[in-house]
Amino acid sequence: MLLRAEIISIGDELTSGQRLDTNSKWISEKLGDLGIKTAFHTTVGDAMPDNIDVFQKAARRADLVIASGGLGPTADDLTREAIALAFNLPLEIRQEALDHIESLFALRKRPMPERNRSQAMFPEGSRMIENPHGTAPGIDLIVTSPHTLDGRTSRIFSLPGVPAEMMQMFSDTIQPRLIEEMGVGGQRWFYHSIKVFGIGESELEKKLPDLIHRDRDPIVGITVSKATITLRIAALCSDEAEFQSKIGPTIQQIQEQLGWLIFAEGEIDIDGATQAWLTDRGTRLGVIEIGSGAWIQKYLADLSSQGWTGLQVGRWFPSLEHLSESVPADFLAVLEEPIPSDETTKQLSNAAEHLRQQLDLDLCLAAGVYPTHQAVISSKSLPTSDFTFVLARRGKAVKHTTVSLGAHPDVLYHRLAKTGLNFLRLELLQHG
Ligand code: AMP
Ligand code: MG
Repeated sequence: MLLRAEIISIGDELTSGQRLDTNSKWISEKLGDLGIKTAFHTTVGDAMPDNIDVFQKAARRADLVIASGGLGPTADDLTREAIALAFNLPLEIRQEALDHIESLFALRKRPMPERNRSQAMFPEGSRMIENPHGTAPGIDLIVTSPHTLDGRTSRIFSLPGVPAEMMQMFSDTIQPRLIEEMGVGGQRWFYHSIKVFGIGESELEKKLPDLIHRDRDPIVGITVSKATITLRIAALCSDEAEFQSKIGPTIQQIQEQLGWLIFAEGEIDIDGATQAWLTDRGTRLGVIEIGSGAWIQKYLADLSSQGWTGLQVGRWFPSLEHLSESVPADFLAVLEEPIPSDETTKQLSNAAEHLRQQLDLDLCLAAGVYPTHQAVISSKSLPTSDFTFVLARRGKAVKHTTVSLGAHPDVLYHRLAKTGLNFLRLELLQHG
């Protein structure tokens, strides 16, 4: 049976945005490794009615609930009481827990404050989860009807919020109990990523109409980050070999539909893929960027120690007079003309080929941006600008393309740089 889990994170510091909920991410990944799908992440502040509500809802909709936070000794730590109230259970003192808390204080040569007694209180019928390094033991409680639906049970684990304690208690106690008592762990979730650039999300979905269904096995999901699309294939399997054979037909279908739009598989972006490609072949690449903030060169910065040569020129930067003597006149002419035209493309092409020859490069990629410059730097508008890319190659004719790109300024530069690298990739792919 596929278990559905809910993860609850408790604390005002989380709901107020002062602290990021990292526990849920960690627990979800651990559950995924045990084949358990997390259906909900719930974050709740330190208010009793809200906590009661959250635990009651979770018991109804999840087979497994893992909560963290609110097990401390202070007045804003409500989790024990919230669980007791949510499921009408009295709280009782657990001697084993009290002994542990007292021993920790004795070890630290301090008297135990009365308030810490509350940490030894447990809802009737629950089991303790040892916390070797802290005074907050965890709670393991099985809840049944009428608090659950359809006669099901819901297993609730409550852990302290301190990430290190939470993690150790999960690994030492919860994980073995899930495996031994709930029969999980025979399978786990495996993931495989396919990276796509050069197409919009909805266009992409149109090309893969049957694949993006939640009840499909394997599941295919789409996410976008900085203009790169990731297709994430997920399946519940016993081992890597089973996963590979299960996803084989799906990968093949995606490859057939998307072809050259795919630039890599795995956790890599287009800059990393280009770098790996250039490094493998020992290619000497030069990059010229005009008016673009030199994003391609930033993307390829790691290559500079490996024979890569970059030249950045900014039309709007006051550094023109610092350009070296070796910059050709054509090149400077480009800077005078901020509108893309056959003439500017020719000038950019000449500049790229000139630099390539002069520095004995295999490739020289040139990018010229012809924006209404204010629009690009202003965050008020969503600018569209024309970008011309030119590729000069040893022994081949110079190629060029001009595209209009638009996006929020924070994304535009990524899209620009990736479009340039993708142009390079596709040219090499098509023409050897
Ligand atoms: P608590 O157990 O609620 O007293 O929390 C103890 C500490 O753990 C606090 O510093 C919290 O900010 C931190 N903490 C609690 N919950 C989380 C969470 N979900 N993710 C990351 N840190 C947390
Ligand atoms: Mg707290």
